[in-house]
Amino acid sequence: MQNIAIGVSSCLLGHEVRYDGGHKYHSYIEKTLGKFFSLRPFCPEAASGMGVPRPAIQLRRVAGETRAVGVKDATLDATDNLRRTSELQADWLRGVCGYILKKDSPSCGMERVRVYQGEAATRNGVGVFAEYLQQAFPELPLEEEGRLGDPGLRENFVSRVYVYARWRDLRAEGLSVNGLMTFHSRHKLIAMSHNQSATRELGRLAASADTENLEEVADRYFCRLMTCLKRLATRKNHVNVLQHIQGYLKTKLDAGDKQELCEAIENYRLGLTPLIVPITLLRHHFRRQPDPFIERSYYMTPHPGELALLNDI
Ligand code: SF4
Repeated sequence: MQNIAIGVSSCLLGHEVRYDGGHKYHSYIEKTLGKFFSLRPFCPEAASGMGVPRPAIQLRRVAGETRAVGVKDATLDATDNLRRTSELQADWLRGVCGYILKKDSPSCGMERVRVYQGEAATRNGVGVFAEYLQQAFPELPLEEEGRLGDPGLRENFVSRVYVYARWRDLRAEGLSVNGLMTFHSRHKLIAMSHNQSATRELGRLAASADTENLEEVADRYFCRLMTCLKRLATRKNHVNVLQHIQGYLKTKLDAGDKQELCEAIENYRLGLTPLIVPITLLRHHFRRQPDPFIERSYYMTPHPGELALLNDI
């Protein structure tokens, strides 16, 4: 897929926009993800005219509300300015398929940002810009740079970005009842690896679409799909999906190949090998014994192989 844009907190790309004039360069984002995605840097604090360098801000409870105020001077309240600046970004944000945010920031932090009350702090805040993203684009895949170091979270984020991009393409082509059913069929195994009962509900929802209710059903479908995918896929669910796929080869493999495939799935179940091992073996068999459903499913090719994201989960 071409032209998948991802928003990124500017400081993570080495831009010197932090309050102290520094940056928080993250090489995996630029050097690895940057090869596959068009990275769109944005710094909400710099964009709202706070200057670089500028007084540091923090989240603080003020009169029953969480506000972004100066660390040294709490009368400096940047909240409304940051909110206005965030809303002005809506146009270009409609074009991104994911967003990587700087953790702990009172503007960009996605979760667990410190909120001060007196001298004490509770880690339950969301940065002002991140909160805007969550409210205005609830299906948009968001992740923090710190969490990208976890192989499961990293794979989950990138996989969601590709699903989001494919949905955007479907919408751009023009939605149809058949298009929605095909989309579901191609993503069904991915959804199963996250949540099997939610996948059954998604199937029923997609099947309920007709020309009268298509828009409304499609919106609900996508919202539920992205909620389902947010929950991390489990090894147990992957094993179920792998065995389900194996079923398509039941009459096509000889005893030796069947045994080898069972062992590959079992070794994955036991945590002895990563997911890429049984998937590679399955791909090999389906190259020789193609099946239209499996061929069109994104489960075994959710993102470019060069990212090697299935090698670590
Ligand atoms: S506001 Fe966001 S992008 Fe700007 S320096 Fe802070 S964390 Fe980085």
